[in-house]
Amino acid sequence: MKEKGYFQFKLYSDVYGCEDLSHVHCEICWQVITNDNWQDTVNNGYYSNDTWVCNQCYLNFVEPDNYLDAIVTLEKVAEPQ
Ligand SMILES: [Zn+2]
Repeated sequence: MKEKGYFQFKLYSDVYGCEDLSHVHCEICWQVITNDNWQDTVNNGYYSNDTWVCNQCYLNFVEPDNYLDAIVTLEKVAEPQ
């Protein structure tokens, strides 16, 4: 279950360590979250159960309880006919 109560502010390095060279994406807007501070990336966000959301999306969707609505919207995938 993904519920906002479980999301906690984390640095990327808190979860994967300072040496990790990979990255993750915000589940909602696909913001890159990584250790490096290169262009258009951030090094922190809100994390819960292998799911990351960026600060912006946390404020926009998780705090006001729109998170599940946003995810439902994004997961609408066309069925094969
Ligand atoms: Zn986001």
